[in-house]
Amino acid sequence: MTTTRPANNIKRHGLSDRFWEKKPLAQLSQTEWEALCDGCGKCCLNKLEDEDTGDVALTRVACRLLDDDTCQCAHYQTRHSFIPECIVLKPENLDTHAYWMPQTCAYRLLWQKQPLPAWHPLLTGDPASVHAAGVTLRGQTVSEFDTPIEDWEEYIIEEPT
Ligand code: SF4
Ligand code: SF4
Repeated sequence: MTTTRPANNIKRHGLSDRFWEKKPLAQLSQTEWEALCDGCGKCCLNKLEDEDTGDVALTRVACRLLDDDTCQCAHYQTRHSFIPECIVLKPENLDTHAYWMPQTCAYRLLWQKQPLPAWHPLLTGDPASVHAAGVTLRGQTVSEFDTPIEDWEEYIIEEPT
């Protein structure tokens, strides 16, 4: 299963205070929607889905375009030339995808009517707070090029991380 994310270079300045608590997700502006992304990059990790139970496990096997240091897509604008299945997450398709998003993902949390965690950059004002909180896999991923799919089970991670 491949993955998704809204955008790199997330703009979080000049937005209304706690806008995500005041408006339904479908009524957010594009800037507000993208600002919800905490930049963790975990949606760009490959997942394994159990066909019988529907359970989804996140692995440390990263999409070939994920930069393991920045936790961002290395070729965001042109990524669909390389990874056509990369999904653009929107309010309209969140119902379809939220179940397999990482457990700390802001979109999944808000879809579940949960609050944003205290380390979220929208609350700290610091994009690095997501890394400082230890919820990213920075420096811990392995390449999908070098890791055969039959070995991915060895790289399953326990969520939430
Ligand atoms: S998992 Fe969610 S919060 Fe993290 S990068 Fe992906 S879309 Fe953004
Ligand atoms: S193409 Fe880029 S945005 Fe899409 S899953 Fe890979 S690293 Fe993430």
